[in-house]
Amino acid sequence: MDLNLSATQGMYVETVRRFVKTEILPGLLEVERKHAFPFSVVRRAWELGILNLSIPAVIKGFELDALSSALIIEELAYGDSGIATSAMCNDLANAVIAQHGIPSQQEAFLRPFVEEPLLASFCLTEPGAGSDNSAMTTFMVRREDGSYLLNGTKCFITNASFASQFTVFCKVGKPAGNFMACVIVPVPPPALEAIAGGFPTGREIFLPAGGCIAVGKPEDKLGQRLSNTAAVTFEEVVVTPEQIIGDRRRGFQYIIDVLDYARPMVAAIGVGLARRALAVTIDYTRERRQFGQRICDLPVARETLTAMWKKVELAKLALIKAAVTLDEKGSDRGLYASLAKNAAAEAAIFCANEGLHLHGGYGFMNEYEIAKLARDAHIIDIYEGVREVQNMIIGREIC
Ligand SMILES: Cc1cc2nc3c(=O)[nH]c(=O)nc-3n(C[C@H](O)[C@H](O)[C@H](O)COP(=O)(O)OP(=O)(O)OC[C@H]3O[C@@H](n4cnc5c(N)ncnc54)[C@H](O)[C@@H]3O)c2cc1C
Repeated sequence: MDLNLSATQGMYVETVRRFVKTEILPGLLEVERKHAFPFSVVRRAWELGILNLSIPAVIKGFELDALSSALIIEELAYGDSGIATSAMCNDLANAVIAQHGIPSQQEAFLRPFVEEPLLASFCLTEPGAGSDNSAMTTFMVRREDGSYLLNGTKCFITNASFASQFTVFCKVGKPAGNFMACVIVPVPPPALEAIAGGFPTGREIFLPAGGCIAVGKPEDKLGQRLSNTAAVTFEEVVVTPEQIIGDRRRGFQYIIDVLDYARPMVAAIGVGLARRALAVTIDYTRERRQFGQRICDLPVARETLTAMWKKVELAKLALIKAAVTLDEKGSDRGLYASLAKNAAAEAAIFCANEGLHLHGGYGFMNEYEIAKLARDAHIIDIYEGVREVQNMIIGREIC
């Protein structure tokens, strides 16, 4: 395993670093306080080629390897982990189409993302089915004409207020069915004024083929306030066989395949956040003096900074291992994806909390970025599988 970046990877990293420095970090805390969705940043990211990293080259997508994608997501998260989550969610929703869709489905459901700055949502979690997604009750039932009707409610769905396409996992036949399917529901993108303002309310989408999608009011979140999260209800939504990805009984396997890809990307978000927390804390403790010395020179404080640095470096190694194992299609890619996600979540939470502590009372003030980073960090340990679920996977694989 070569730990050096290729020239192309180095160029990706430099491009995103410049973007973060000039277009995300200036005024970040003010925008974040308003909880407004930064669509102009998303649009610019699309123009720069930072969105939709996994779309196949045959339909003019970037089809980046996992390591390059992770490097890009990490740099984006160094700027803001909410924006990185929103960007990454397009790949989360679209990876299943790239992995298991037939060419006509890839053309129909992925091509629009190449042509326009659109957002997609990945709809798995339900109010009664979080870590245990097999308990989901959203289901589709076949009609006499061969089409299906989709009904059910998903919650905590990233990008939902702005999505132009929903990737939905559902049971087949009945809510308690044994089989799970994956269906793609494209919808007209929301009105431009709703996007430009960044403050969506609920959204009701009546579909031309029949049925309605109701998107709830955006959730008021502790952190990652620059990503959009809302509940989505599917009411009598007509689904044609062309909208079903792969085998309509193999949805559970498709979820595993997507998460094997997506967990290293969440790890990248965690590493980016942890690095940012370390950087702002080093800057602060170099400036601030107590007991006649810079705080970073006080031995116990320096020990904390050293512990933060070690967490970042170890999480980064775990991330690289997971991404390379995924690129090599290793049979243990799920194991390393879980390791990287847990290591990165631990690094993010540790660095944000200890960083806040080293800022003293100032760290508790919203005008310091470390306060935002501490709020943002917790979700890394929760979404795409809580820590305990990753440990379950690791335990199962090694025993
Ligand atoms: C900001 C945000 C964005 C999200 N984006 C999306 C999205 O785009 N699409 C989507 O489908 N979902 C999304 N989610 C949902 C997310 O993936 C779930 O919240 C997560 O999987 C946990 O499910 P839950 O919240 O129902 O917690 P629960 O499953 O109820 O778990 C609660 C707690 O119980 C404990 N626990 C659970 N299982 C076990 C176990 N096996 N062993 C021991 N302890 C356990 C853990 O401590 C866990 O934290 C998002 C969530 C948030 C907050």
